[in-house]
Amino acid sequence: MIPLSLIKHIESALTEISGLADRVRSCESIGGGSINTACRIEWAGDYYFLKWNSASKFPKMFANEAEGLHQLKESNSITIPEVFKVEETRTEAFIMMEFIHQSSPNRTFWETFGMQLAELHRNTSSHFGNIHDNYIGSLPQSNATHENWSDFFVLERLSPLVKLARDNQRIASVHALQFDKLYTKIESLFPPEKPALLHGDLWSGNFLINEKGLPVLIDPAVYYGHREMDIAMTKLFGGFETGFYESYKRYYELEKGWEKRIDLCNLYPLLVHLNLFGSSYLYDIERTLRYFVQ
Ligand code: ADP
Repeated sequence: MIPLSLIKHIESALTEISGLADRVRSCESIGGGSINTACRIEWAGDYYFLKWNSASKFPKMFANEAEGLHQLKESNSITIPEVFKVEETRTEAFIMMEFIHQSSPNRTFWETFGMQLAELHRNTSSHFGNIHDNYIGSLPQSNATHENWSDFFVLERLSPLVKLARDNQRIASVHALQFDKLYTKIESLFPPEKPALLHGDLWSGNFLINEKGLPVLIDPAVYYGHREMDIAMTKLFGGFETGFYESYKRYYELEKGWEKRIDLCNLYPLLVHLNLFGSSYLYDIERTLRYFVQ
């Protein structure tokens, strides 16, 4: 249930958004998220999507999410829910956005998804990183900018999480040494690419299928990065359908050897999972380290 202290903020937000007076009668709880509490609110005959959390636990999380969704929407490449309001009260924070009514994929769903992600990735910037930091899951994610991908990947992605894992005894010193060796190789392993606008957390739980049967991206961790990061993330827990990859490559060919770099890219989300959920993710990290660092 929505905390009582939030109700009046939500009601005045909905009055402002819809231009119509009503009151919150129900809030149908929505599962599937890993961090926040979410529900579908009915207001003056329309539905809205609401997520909330304590204001102090994850500072600026929803503001960062809204900025990321805005950047993705501005690219005009793929459907993104409209954000109506982000607000922080003394105790809670919430984000209110367009409610996506879900349906099943249309006949060309995967082909469209591949094409639209390729279009998103064509948006570029002078640097890797972003104008604001954000979160990956519930972990803070630094988007400090760098001119080349290897510096960004090592300094803003891998090494902070290796350090965190080492501090919390989730990895041993031997792993940290292997990571140090890997850092020296990163530049030669990735072919040069322009910084691409990324969703940043593109696993199968972070897209919805709307009433037109089209993909809608949610819950991003946006930055300008190497586009193989998004592609790799789609394969972390099973993978999308083959049509998605075929279509993506038709619109934006991937550099030779991309399949071999999937595990390298996925060291980052695996480190996120290792830090958040524990050592069951260490096996895959060790396997990748063995492959890339003899
Ligand atoms: P969290 O920030 O806690 O990870 P998510 O953003 O993943 O939460 O949202 C939780 C669930 O709510 C998702 O798995 C999805 O099913 C649903 N959802 C997210 N955004 C919308 C939306 N705009 N409209 C309808 N349902 C949504």
